[in-house]
Amino acid sequence: MTEHTKTDGLPGMDLPVLPEASPLGMGKAPVRNERMSSAKVECNACPVLCQISEGRSGACDRYANRAGVLVRVDPVVLLRRELQSESPALVPFAREGAEAPAESAPPARDWDGDLLLADQVFVTGIGASTTYPDYKPAPFIVASKAQGVDMVTVVTEGIFSYCSVKVKIDTDRFLGSEQANVRYKGEVVGHVTTAEYGSQMLSLGGVHHLTGGSKKEGRMTLELMQNLCNKQAAECTIDGGSSLVIQAGKAPIVNGVEEQRMRVGCGSATVGIFARQLLGLADEVVVVDDHITGVLTEHQAGRCLAMPPSGIQMRGRKSTPGRYFQVANPGSGWGGTDIADPLAIIEGWEPGVAKPGLRLLMTSTTGEQAQWFVLDDNLQPVEQPIPPEVQKVVDRIGENCEPSLCTVLFLGGAGGSLRAGVTENPVLLTRAIKQALVNVTCGGAPAYVWPGGGITVMVDVTRMPDNSFGTVPTPAIIAPIEFSMRLADYAALGGHMEHVMTLEQALSRGAWQDDGAPTAREWRRPEAVNAWPLGQPPLLG
Ligand code: SF4
Repeated sequence: MTEHTKTDGLPGMDLPVLPEASPLGMGKAPVRNERMSSAKVECNACPVLCQISEGRSGACDRYANRAGVLVRVDPVVLLRRELQSESPALVPFAREGAEAPAESAPPARDWDGDLLLADQVFVTGIGASTTYPDYKPAPFIVASKAQGVDMVTVVTEGIFSYCSVKVKIDTDRFLGSEQANVRYKGEVVGHVTTAEYGSQMLSLGGVHHLTGGSKKEGRMTLELMQNLCNKQAAECTIDGGSSLVIQAGKAPIVNGVEEQRMRVGCGSATVGIFARQLLGLADEVVVVDDHITGVLTEHQAGRCLAMPPSGIQMRGRKSTPGRYFQVANPGSGWGGTDIADPLAIIEGWEPGVAKPGLRLLMTSTTGEQAQWFVLDDNLQPVEQPIPPEVQKVVDRIGENCEPSLCTVLFLGGAGGSLRAGVTENPVLLTRAIKQALVNVTCGGAPAYVWPGGGITVMVDVTRMPDNSFGTVPTPAIIAPIEFSMRLADYAALGGHMEHVMTLEQALSRGAWQDDGAPTAREWRRPEAVNAWPLGQPPLLG
């Protein structure tokens, strides 16, 4: 067998820890990978152990063999805090050779590696490299100061075998029954889960689809998860339901129709919210909703306003006065039902109570559908144009709807071996996180850590830099993760103190570097709403 290098470019425990610093973006990192006589190098950054020929990249396209040196091909991503204010807005560095910022961008400031500014820079796990096999310290363990306190951030790219995405789709339309399979390119990659208020929810990915089925199922699951986490559009179908295009931060497209509005509330809530505005304009109002259809005169809101009963008799199952379940089947019609004619949910009118001339407004929960009827002498509803004053209230319902969006949350289990890159005693990291001593971020975005055992993190991918996620063919998702804490707490939990480095040292080294390639890229999100990852109250309180 040909002899290969066996390195991912990270220092082993027995290798020099802190290479000589070099000026940011100017010098070359010390080449720590052994140059081999063979044209191949072996990457051991994941269990696949690719043997990579010169000029080629490995199976994940994240590592490559350049002149016999294994390099991480993507630049590491840095976040930079806007200095003029406490705002967490992120701005790009102006570095030699960097592209000029767009005209709309705030002016970039020159930065020559001045360590006085170093604490305004946050090294993310994006492009940082991994620690596989996991006895290695994390690729970056960066010291800094926050509000005068010595801090440290442990930065890595996690290999997540246990991970999924939870997708919230703001629509009332029927996407599929709960537990129905969701397919991507024909493969089952997840399922419909519980509907939430105004939204349908999907659970996609997960270890069983990644590794428990066929190879193709695993590949498709991985591809879908990577696309969605990287904010790209993906088309799925639901067994017995709809086809839809999902993209984080964008409107869902259901059966080819782009969703516009997220409902103001359920039918009962809509009746309650707008009851006073409709008083005197209509004798009865029905808000059609697949979940709870509201009937104003029966509803407590109508009673409180002393509205007389209209005599309307509804289909469906009465829950409480003025609130009806199951008036129709789920679908893409009015209020997430399958009806196109709203009168289909009215059983009849009670003689002696209902009167000719009664004015009836029927609307959906978004106001996108609305019709106005007047009862004739036979108590039959006759459609008429909506009076302008009633149309104003219908418009108000629409105005109160938020834009319909897809939300994609990445959910991953970080309680496994990657903890060894942080500490020699992994349970201490888990405990420190639960004690709010450690701020966990993913690509600088705040991560919610689930209570209970392990380190199960959840993060909104739209708060993360573009293309934060990668894959390896094991199959698993690669996601950035950073653990920030006081330096003293890091020492107390058995951290790799001998590997703590300054920002300057971090920037001068790393497996991602290679001749001529950028050493770092900066991410700017003009509307950034993320708190600065360092010095959050739980850390300093
Ligand atoms: S798949 Fe990527 S990380 Fe894994 S061994 Fe191959 S090149 Fe390295």
